[in-house]
Amino acid sequence: MEAKVLLVKCPTKRETFGVRIQKMDDGDWWRTWAFKLNTAQAQNEGYDETQVQGNLNETEEYPGCPHCGTHGFVQCGKCKKISCWKHETSMVCPWCGNNMSNIVTATSKFDVTGGAF
Ligand SMILES: [Zn+2]
Ligand SMILES: [Zn+2]
Repeated sequence: MEAKVLLVKCPTKRETFGVRIQKMDDGDWWRTWAFKLNTAQAQNEGYDETQVQGNLNETEEYPGCPHCGTHGFVQCGKCKKISCWKHETSMVCPWCGNNMSNIVTATSKFDVTGGAF
């Protein structure tokens, strides 16, 4: 089974965390676990370079953000990085400061490319 870790930023606490994801037989990715992870640790492990394509579902065990508890997440259209999302219709990306408006859904067809932050 293929498993990776995504780096996600929480805008509430301005902290990052890791999300463990697993690729299932149908080709979709499932979020199975979340844990506190700072950017230095993430860079050491190469998690900031994680690349994913497809859906990002969540399992029943998925605990949500370790900082704010939300299960929602959104991908910035500018920097392509992921952050917590509490169903706001607009928010500022905690990674790059991009003003994201018209947020509709964040669970379908992700294309995470990673890269420097
Ligand atoms: Zn959060
Ligand atoms: Zn951004």
